[in-house]
Amino acid sequence: MKIASSSEMSLIELLHELGITAEAVLVSIDGKLIPETATIHEGQEVEIIYYKHVPPLSSPQEPRGHWKRAEYSSTCANCQSAPVIYLAYANQHLCPKHFKELFEKRVKRSIREYNMLTKGDRVGVALSGGKDSYALLHALSAVKESLPFEMVALTVDEGIPGYRDKAIQNAKKRCKELEIQQHVYTFREEHGKTIAEIAKEGKENLCSYCGVLRRKILNSKARELGMDKVAIGHNLDDVAQTAMLNLIRNEPLRFARFNEPLIENEKLIPRIRPLRDIREKEVAAYAFLHGHEYDSGCCCPHATSALRWSVRHELNSLEDQYPGTKSKIASSFNTLQAIVKDSVKDKKLKLKECSECGEPSSDEVCMGCKMLSDL
Ligand code: SF4
Ligand code: ZN
Repeated sequence: MKIASSSEMSLIELLHELGITAEAVLVSIDGKLIPETATIHEGQEVEIIYYKHVPPLSSPQEPRGHWKRAEYSSTCANCQSAPVIYLAYANQHLCPKHFKELFEKRVKRSIREYNMLTKGDRVGVALSGGKDSYALLHALSAVKESLPFEMVALTVDEGIPGYRDKAIQNAKKRCKELEIQQHVYTFREEHGKTIAEIAKEGKENLCSYCGVLRRKILNSKARELGMDKVAIGHNLDDVAQTAMLNLIRNEPLRFARFNEPLIENEKLIPRIRPLRDIREKEVAAYAFLHGHEYDSGCCCPHATSALRWSVRHELNSLEDQYPGTKSKIASSFNTLQAIVKDSVKDKKLKLKECSECGEPSSDEVCMGCKMLSDL
């Protein structure tokens, strides 16, 4: 639920008014997670995603402070436990157990619906240590109980001091606890340069360098390890943003190759997105529920104000005004994907092997090698 503060106050004060503890995941108006030590300015809207009531509530049946009745319940929709999340689109309050069950059920449904996994698959989970990949690791561990497949974690350290270090430490700790084998690769070892060093050279579009070079490592390492799939933590918000970006940038072919490569190539390891039908906020709540520590200085210092950021912002406000917008965009994406794919299937598209590194490429030299030679 969203709450606009009537005066400048600390988040802890606001939470106190609501009768909840500071153990909450919160999202500010621009979609960034904020720490409980934050100050809320007058009129700024704070969205509470995950919360815990201060027990006991003075009057358990009555909403306190800023709570609106629809957003308030002292019990879960499925049991008598205290809820921790409110799903507005379903008008449901859920306790940790029932939220977790619903989340994992939806992950399983997406895996089935998009035919992402088959029994015995070897899956490399791209684990950056951020909330999405952390949630993905946990959800896949849960799914593994009913659909046996093998799984290892693949972590890429781009070399961004103060940003990736903590996430990578968390990722290592969690892999140990879950007894999941983890492989860590660094830009320094694989590409000879870190992102921080590439940034010093004054490159524009640093995120393009980072994305292309990260994917290059993930694909080649997954293949070397004999993986059948690479799982990535893209959520519903990412899918809706990607759909809009494909339209804005006039790149319709990208619709077709979102789910699987347009051209099959044994060197290209298919990527799967088990969280693709789940909203980002729920992914954050699920990660939080499993002990993910988010960092208040969470943002990459090299993040540019990319077009994706504006699209994300616009989609969030559309979703507020017209709930279900993101799901509808994602469904249109699926429909368009099938149509575009059909329309190109007879064209003889071919992937070559990069003359520098041997990775699959549509050009003589792959994008990664072009970027590297440019540094
Ligand atoms: Fe890389 Fe850009 Fe993400 Fe930073 S924000 S990690 S530079 S893709
Ligand atoms: Zn290459």
